[in-house]
Formats: sequence, structure tokens, C-alpha cells
Amino acid sequence: MCLFCKIVAGEIPSTKVYEDDTVLAFRDIAPMAPTHILVIPKTHIPSVDGVTAENSAVVAHIFEVIPGIAAAEGLTGGYRVVSNCGPDAGQTVPHLHFHILGGKQLRTDMA
Ligand code: 5GP
Ligand code: ZN
Repeated sequence: MCLFCKIVAGEIPSTKVYEDDTVLAFRDIAPMAPTHILVIPKTHIPSVDGVTAENSAVVAHIFEVIPGIAAAEGLTGGYRVVSNCGPDAGQTVPHLHFHILGGKQLRTDMA
């Protein structure tokens, strides 16, 4: 089972900020901004490369819940949503996740 599947299963603790039947959001263990949250599907999808017509509904649902998570965090000035896919992007956990970053003026040099 991958690290984030273990978090979904409760085998590894996390600081949850949102949960429903298909999606979990929790605080990143090494935050890069005042707010740094990871939003993941509860089902294992390895990365953006693993999104298909069969499983994309959960990705749509993730984006449906993100605005509410951001609002609950007080990110009135905006925020960034990032998904690293593969080694060139620096993906370190092989379970699809979307970073929500905010709470400060973020750098604009994304690459
Ligand atoms: P990636 O580098 O794959 O885009 O993002 C993985 C993220 O998971 C990193 O920001 C890292 O800090 C976070 N992370 C790694 N292990 C854990 C953990 O055990 N718990 C939590 N909450 N975050 C983790
Ligand atoms: Zn997984």
C-alpha cells in the first residue's frame, strides 16, 4: 500500500481538513507556505498520468471541494493548486495529489 493509501486507511496519522466518501484533504507534513494542504482521491491513482475517462469523476470532485477548503483556510487573496507528475516534476509520492498553497504572496517562477 502506498504512503497516501496508508493515510486514507488511517495506518499513518494525518491532520485532516476535509473528508468525504471519495476525497481526503490533509496538511502537508513539510509546508512550503502558511497553508499547504494535499487533496487526494481515496482510491489509488498513481499520478495525473493515471487519470482516465473511468476515474476522472473523482478529479472533478476534488476541484469541486477545493474552493471550500480554501475558503475555510481564509485564503481570500488567492491560492495555487499544483500536481507534480513524474520525476521531472519532482513527484515523491506515487498517489495522485493536488497541493493547495496559499497564505502568502507565492513566487511566480513556477518552473
Ligand atoms: P510531491 O513531491 O509528490 O508533489 O508531494 C508529496 C508531498 O507529500 C510533499 O509535499 C511532502 O511534504 C508530503 N508528505 C510526504 N510524506 C508525508 C506524510 O507522511 N504526511 C503528510 N501529511 N505529508 C507528507
Ligand atoms: Zn495510494
